[in-house]
Amino acid sequence: MAYDGIRVQLGPTGLEPQQSETEEAILTGVRRFAEKVMRPIGRELDELHDPNQVIAPGSSLWTLLGEYQKLGLTVGSIFELPAEERGRIMSTAFEELGWGDGGLAICLAASTVPWIVMHAMQNQTLLERYPEDRVGCWGITEPDHGSDILDFGRQTAQPGSSYGKPNCVVRIDGDELVVSGQKSAWVSNGPIAGLCCLFASLDDGSGEFKQCCVILPLDRPGVSRGKVLDKLGQRALTQGELYFDDVRVSRDHMVAAPGEPYHAAIYALLAEANCIMASIWTGAARAAYEHALEYAHTRKQGGVPIIRHQNVRYRLFHMFRKVEASRALARRVMYFNHTSPVPAIQGSIAAKITATQTAFEVASEAIQMFGGNGVTREYPVEKLLRDARSSMIEDGCNEFLAIKGGTYLADPVRY
Ligand SMILES: Cc1cc2nc3c(=O)[nH]c(=O)nc-3n(C[C@H](O)[C@H](O)[C@H](O)COP(=O)(O)OP(=O)(O)OC[C@H]3O[C@@H](n4cnc5c(N)ncnc54)[C@H](O)[C@@H]3O)c2cc1C
Repeated sequence: MAYDGIRVQLGPTGLEPQQSETEEAILTGVRRFAEKVMRPIGRELDELHDPNQVIAPGSSLWTLLGEYQKLGLTVGSIFELPAEERGRIMSTAFEELGWGDGGLAICLAASTVPWIVMHAMQNQTLLERYPEDRVGCWGITEPDHGSDILDFGRQTAQPGSSYGKPNCVVRIDGDELVVSGQKSAWVSNGPIAGLCCLFASLDDGSGEFKQCCVILPLDRPGVSRGKVLDKLGQRALTQGELYFDDVRVSRDHMVAAPGEPYHAAIYALLAEANCIMASIWTGAARAAYEHALEYAHTRKQGGVPIIRHQNVRYRLFHMFRKVEASRALARRVMYFNHTSPVPAIQGSIAAKITATQTAFEVASEAIQMFGGNGVTREYPVEKLLRDARSSMIEDGCNEFLAIKGGTYLADPVRY
């Protein structure tokens, strides 16, 4: 193959601008963790037939969580960084984690939710009461309310329709909150979490349910859990129902009361979560592209490595292009959101949809590049496709999110 002599050798994250010393130090640690810890453990847990084995004593999941803690990447430490640096580090670090293993990256990201919300709501009392020494989770969806409950403001709901009966209710009893009902089987980390950021309906006796957000320790009497969900992809990420039988906590656990505080909390969280998803699934797309690129240099057909076939280079180029585009948007939105007074949820949604769609497409193209080997469990790309498939549903189905994002483009005065 002929070259004209001019060539820029790109690093793992492509067209990477100069990074600060802090960024480089943090990212070196995260990259090593992604490669040496997440990759092998992600594959091992994916192969377990029974998802309950993922949380059994002696499971490598516990090793992974212990090793991650050693990196010191707590929400508290990240929020102490200057906004610009935080915006860049969050997006590059989550890309590395997604590159390591998509399901485990979601496990680590979902774990931060209670602390992200406590920080967003500037609730110092609860932050002091609950140090970041346990696994967290986000309990929002319910058996009867998936897209519904993420649709705060009911922007995607049919005119004249009603929300219907909630599956999880909070009521106030003197100085205490009492939680009853259940959350869906989809709660990421539900089987192992110690602290839940619970979005639920407040029953104030008026007959009208209003949404609120409660920080709920899961070691309280009355909390029980469903069995670990068996699913396609992201199998290292354990999920399961949370059941509440009159669980009591002091009233100051309500981190966002109905009305404006609730809207502020859920807006901030969905904007942040979609943004993190964008970086994670950019990382998974990059992993699929790298596997395909490497395979193209080793697999021979027609007496030459397949990279020598023009159409293979053409296909690899489009995979590279999609990963770069997904990364560019994910980073731009994360940076904007962390450096602006209010995050742009339409940007987060655009980045989430782009990255998850990219991860799915690039993983599928990687399978095609591997030929028959691509669909066997011996090679890593079929797992990437399974992992990416769920990402188009988690944190909101992409089509529902697009309708919601579109609502934020409309001029509220002329709408
Ligand atoms: C891997 C994974 C991780 C998850 N983690 C968590 C978690 O940590 N915590 C948690 O609480 N939940 C979690 N979820 C649940 C997730 O948020 C929901 O699955 C998602 O919001 C969709 O809800 P649903 O599954 O009930 O689908 P439904 O809402 O029933 O949707 C079914 C179909 O109808 C379409 N649809 C629904 N409403 C509309 C509308 N208004 N306009 C147009 N189309 C619509 C959807 O696009 C979809 O195609 C997770 C899910 C997955 C897959």
